[in-house]
Amino acid sequence: MPRKSSKGTKTSPKAESRLEIPRLLTVQHLADLLGLTGVEVIKHLMQNGVMANLNQTIDFDTAAVVASDLGYEPVEMAMPEPTGFTREVVDGQELHPRPAVVTVMGHIDHGKTRLLDAIRQTNVMDTEAGSITQHIGAYQAEVDGRKITFLDTPGHEAFTAMRARGAKVTDIAVLVVAADDGVMPQTREAIAHARAAGVPIVVAINKIDKAGANLDRVKQQLAEEGLLIEEWGGDTICVPVSAKMKQNVSELLENILIVAEMLELKAPVDCLASGVVIEAELDKSKGPLATVLVQSGTLKLGDPVVVGDTWGKVKAMFNDAGKRVKKAEPATPVKILGLNGVPQAGDPCTAVASEKEARSWVQKRQQERQLESLRPARTLTLDRLLADTEEGQPKQLSLILKTDVQGSIEPIRTSLEQLETEDTKVRIIHAGSGGITEGDVLLALASKAIIIGFDTAPTPGAQSLAQLEGVDIRRYSVIYDLVDDIQRAIKGMKEPSYAEVIQGHAEVRAVFSSSKYGKAAGVYVTDGKLRRDDMVRVLRRGEVVYEGTLASLRRFKDDVKEVTAGYECGVGVSGFKAFQEGDTIEDYRMERVDESET
Ligand code: GDP
Repeated sequence: MPRKSSKGTKTSPKAESRLEIPRLLTVQHLADLLGLTGVEVIKHLMQNGVMANLNQTIDFDTAAVVASDLGYEPVEMAMPEPTGFTREVVDGQELHPRPAVVTVMGHIDHGKTRLLDAIRQTNVMDTEAGSITQHIGAYQAEVDGRKITFLDTPGHEAFTAMRARGAKVTDIAVLVVAADDGVMPQTREAIAHARAAGVPIVVAINKIDKAGANLDRVKQQLAEEGLLIEEWGGDTICVPVSAKMKQNVSELLENILIVAEMLELKAPVDCLASGVVIEAELDKSKGPLATVLVQSGTLKLGDPVVVGDTWGKVKAMFNDAGKRVKKAEPATPVKILGLNGVPQAGDPCTAVASEKEARSWVQKRQQERQLESLRPARTLTLDRLLADTEEGQPKQLSLILKTDVQGSIEPIRTSLEQLETEDTKVRIIHAGSGGITEGDVLLALASKAIIIGFDTAPTPGAQSLAQLEGVDIRRYSVIYDLVDDIQRAIKGMKEPSYAEVIQGHAEVRAVFSSSKYGKAAGVYVTDGKLRRDDMVRVLRRGEVVYEGTLASLRRFKDDVKEVTAGYECGVGVSGFKAFQEGDTIEDYRMERVDESET
């Protein structure tokens, strides 16, 4: 890529010299590009009425004025393509078949880890005798000479966390269901997460060696979740296995290959690589290490790479058997050495032509990150979700529904689905009972959905994540209000007004550490009451020092729903640890204001 077709001489560069300039850059960076000193660039900027110091960030338009003054033709530098299999379609690039990338999901203790180990032990060929397989976050299994890449971190949380960061990594989800336990809450979550991502599901009914195994019951339960297996006329592939006895593992792999074949997975091979970080760590002696799943192109030893906010040069690469390799093709996981910093899982990794280019991308990304941090989080509100739909497309409202008890789900689901119109589809991507978890927030983020809590509250972690990422959590305790709000949004009507109604106050009399909630406060309720599901603010000398939700409300050792005036209790506030004696906790609830009053 020509950055500058002639060396930037200070006086009269050729008129046709193209100069690629990032959208944002520092004055010093511009000086480097122009081959001038910083002071010279500052002077040029001043002549154009811009006062800036060396470290100040300027935009492309400002930099372009200086560059044109000096006879360059400024061109805004294109960002590298976002990584992901989207880069598969590169003009003129021949596409080659690539292995499928598989994530194993399912309820806790149903055998995800054991199944991954069984596959590894039975189908991974160690290239060197006696070599020990390495846990690098992913590995490749081989069946009938064909490869399948397995991500080693089981569970839908990791899968969706990556997706929320924009990384599409998985092609196929293997849903593990224990034959003796059947479909459980996290099984349903996993189904929702895979479906929201549009990833096909292969079911592995595990633990068939156990006495309590009941295959028919599991198949029936799966059908209730909309996964109708092939032998019952559906199209879901289902394989009974025992991870413990290593029974039917090859059969499972063969079936994964069948699904992979239908997906016709392809990627270009002969171009610069792009991929995604699966895991990363700082090794005391080797420095930053990152496992990258190459998604397109070929990653080679010595390639300069931009990885998230950091960059480097691939000094050494290791495959899943711990063997040094010189190159990695699509769907291959490799551990790389040579980065200047530790990236995060889900970060894009892009090979570029030169170290200079790598440095300049990272600088730009960091500047963008800085600008980003100044912007308030864009909350995905009901109105915005519906407004953002592309023209001509039916609008789609994606919802995650959490309720206090399982029994509330169906009536609410039915009421919401009845609100569908020709133009607006209502899609409940996940419904379950219990608190609103971080997994729910990630799913909402990755799927552009809002979360509806009916008589249930977010966990402290979920609350702060939602605030950080701008995910809308709406809580209701009256079905009518819930349905009415959604209906209004669908009809493009103004949302009803809500006003806060103070429920009570409590005084902080002691501060102590709680193993579960961090800092907690011993309080005395002075008026009204504190309710477990309400919003609270912490007041100090009349000023609000924090607003959030109650993370815990306890009397003696028991969790309670409410505590009324005249009683003492223990209180934890989500995300808040700095209680002081004498603080006041104010409990409030948002209540709908009557239409006639607005
Ligand atoms: P995960 O939480 O889904 O990763 O579950 P694990 O792989 O840790 O397995 C949970 C427990 O179930 C462990 O004690 C395993 O040894 C056991 N387990 C896993 N697969 C099987 C199986 O096929 N048969 C039997 N009997 N036990 C299994």
